[in-house]
Amino acid sequence: MPLSVGMMLRRAAATGPHARLVGVTAAGRSTRTWPELARRARQVAAALPALGVAPGDRVGTFAWNSLCHLELCYGVPIAGAVLQPLNVRLFPDQVAAIAAHAEDRVVFVAASLTARLAEIRPKLTGVRRYVVLPDGTEPHPDFADAVDYEELIAGVADDEPAEVDEWAAACLCYTGGTTGRPKGVAYSHRSLALHAMSGLFADSFAIRERDVLLPLTPLFHATAWGMPYSAALAGAGLVLAGQDTSPQAVVRLIRQEGVTVAAGVPTFWLAVDQLAPTAEDFATLQRVLCGGAAIPLELIQRYHRRGVSMQQGWGMTEMSPSGNLTIVRGHLEGRPEAERLALHATQGVTTAGVELRVVAPTGEVLPHDGVAAGEIEVRGPWVTASYYRPDDDANDTRFRDGWLRTGDVGTVDPDGYLHLIDRDKDLVKSGGEWISSIELENHLMDHEAVAQAMVIAVPHPVWGERPAALVVACAPVDANALRAHLLPRVPSWWVPDVVEFVAELPTTATGKFDKKRARALWRDRLAVGTPSGGES
Ligand code: ADP
Repeated sequence: MPLSVGMMLRRAAATGPHARLVGVTAAGRSTRTWPELARRARQVAAALPALGVAPGDRVGTFAWNSLCHLELCYGVPIAGAVLQPLNVRLFPDQVAAIAAHAEDRVVFVAASLTARLAEIRPKLTGVRRYVVLPDGTEPHPDFADAVDYEELIAGVADDEPAEVDEWAAACLCYTGGTTGRPKGVAYSHRSLALHAMSGLFADSFAIRERDVLLPLTPLFHATAWGMPYSAALAGAGLVLAGQDTSPQAVVRLIRQEGVTVAAGVPTFWLAVDQLAPTAEDFATLQRVLCGGAAIPLELIQRYHRRGVSMQQGWGMTEMSPSGNLTIVRGHLEGRPEAERLALHATQGVTTAGVELRVVAPTGEVLPHDGVAAGEIEVRGPWVTASYYRPDDDANDTRFRDGWLRTGDVGTVDPDGYLHLIDRDKDLVKSGGEWISSIELENHLMDHEAVAQAMVIAVPHPVWGERPAALVVACAPVDANALRAHLLPRVPSWWVPDVVEFVAELPTTATGKFDKKRARALWRDRLAVGTPSGGES
């Protein structure tokens, strides 16, 4: 039997009607069982040919985490087509560029996101049909010609589709990449299935049948860390929060739905912590899986005091995304509590299936001694071996002898824990989402008063990192004018909080801008919230 999305869906249906799937939209709360979800997913698969979708075609989604979106996570791949979740937080041009690169033929859009997609629609020239997912919001008038999702599947037979080749693509996700240019990562059926199984390993996400999962990570972000698929294999409950992922809504969902395991980037958990949830709020919550950015030890301690274990995950879209997770290894169990907690502030140990090595710039493989630092390289059955489209330049630079070069720099200690210390990527990670420093630099340098510009990541207490711009001016200009210049060109949350005017920028021996030195010189000084940082 192939390892496939169909196999996972059959497993889900076979777990019976006990586990509850909950979706929240503006229309309210609705529930399904796994067998109901499986039936509707099969109807989606059967309805796709009528929309002109053939096997191998890409089907875009522009939607929040919802029950309908979950049905598409299954229905599209079991039809042999490729699910292509679009990031609803990107700037219109970026969404259009990704949809064009992926050649999305049909896009399923949440009714509440039709207004946003209406702006982009004129640029989506390859998209032939739109299907609106009802969510209690009136669709934008520009989508009057779209098909209604419920009408699409109403009355359609829910026959079991033929099995697909396990090596065929099931899903195509995009990562920011080093240049801000879209880079596609195709997940095969086999890769999705193996990654989902790893979510059930006791020393990984350890998802069990009795769990109720709340993935706050969006489905467009590496399929919400594979949770919709792991939940199916385990027959666990799943809560899909929809548009409202405010800390208040998160706490309410955890309490009302009896969530046992929740997952999301650190900023969510920082915001939830600030609400000071009570013991009743967290009565059922056992674990928080937190990753995508480093977690402050203080936050881990605060959740521990509330009786919740916070485990840190490390990975990337290219890894489906899980590579490492913090567990307390057996031989460290006897250590004092403070030391055991501190293990969760590392980037964890490598999950069975993934291989990891530390490599020096010379190519030498370094020992796991906690001292030797180098680029982290990985390979494994759910780690991509190339980017989507053979002509992607990154295929020449991001892979070495079958290993994926992650662009993360760190050490592995003798106990096997990864410690990240730097990043070799020209990106800023703010609230778990990427900001391209190169794109900001290009826009800044388009300004007539800017001679040179460099954007670096600086620490921020809430967002993890924020972009700070270092500018060499050639005419009088102030920070506000530069921010105003950027505002129409990039998403508003990309605009640097700090613009620092400098006499010159550091360069390397070959004359390239030296970001490493710039980070060493300015990173901490410009950190938002420090006396010299902040608005300038
Ligand atoms: P994700 O969905 O996990 O955020 P991305 O591909 O967007 O995947 O980003 C992956 C990158 O995020 C990693 O290469 C690393 O730079 C950063 N990252 C992920 N997890 C962590 C972590 N636990 N600590 C520090 N950085 C992390």
